Amino acid sequence: MRTPIIAGNWKMNNNIEESIELVEEIKKFQLDRDVEAVICVPFTDIKDVKAAIKDTDIKLGAQNMHWEEKGAFTGEISPLMLKELGVDYVILGHSERRQYFNETDDTVNKKMKSALNHDIKPIICVGESLEERESGKEREVVKSQVIKAFEDIDRKEIENIVIAYEPIWAIGTGKTASADDANDMIGFIRDTIGEIYGKEEKQNIRIQYGGSVKPDTISELMGKEEVDGALVGGASLKSEDFVKLINY
Ligand code: PEP
Repeated sequence: MRTPIIAGNWKMNNNIEESIELVEEIKKFQLDRDVEAVICVPFTDIKDVKAAIKDTDIKLGAQNMHWEEKGAFTGEISPLMLKELGVDYVILGHSERRQYFNETDDTVNKKMKSALNHDIKPIICVGESLEERESGKEREVVKSQVIKAFEDIDRKEIENIVIAYEPIWAIGTGKTASADDANDMIGFIRDTIGEIYGKEEKQNIRIQYGGSVKPDTISELMGKEEVDGALVGGASLKSEDFVKLINY
């Protein structure tokens, strides 16, 4: 049985005060205990958010990290620094990082190895552009991203890894993949994991959908066999919406 996972990606939003306010609002609601809820917050909010979620089951995530433990990497944050703050998850290879900050399949792979070595669970983002989808290349693109991200990743780590299928054209655009399309691609990604590792890993890997997920689309999405959760941007910034997603 794969535990459903709903993760909020706050992106570059919320200063410390706003973060605490949002967490306190979320805490007023009863959350479904069978769903893993994660909030991925800006680096500067991590310490205060960690304290604010102390008495809850909510998990804490970062949105990026460097693969090295320390050194001359101005402006970067290391896995040791995240671990020290009690981070459980880290989003890696988000399309915004691939698009604006030259993140590549190779750096995603290095970061995934490093995160796992430091007991931080990676949420690995993959997904095609509109152009790639329109030219019928979406499967080829996503398969290649998955194969490269998982190069030399040990099978015993599969249960610690989450994949987020996020078609780039659906992120922050209000356009969303249909639940059937999301299910199809996630099934394809699961098959790819099966080809690399085998049957057990194929069944165990958790795969989310991301791209303009909203309270009115979540139950259909989560009703699909292959879909184990959602990675959510915009709707995770509103307490009521985020709670509705967790309690789908
Ligand atoms: C995201 O940031 O990963 C995302 C899916 O954003 P949104 O839900 O706003 O499309």
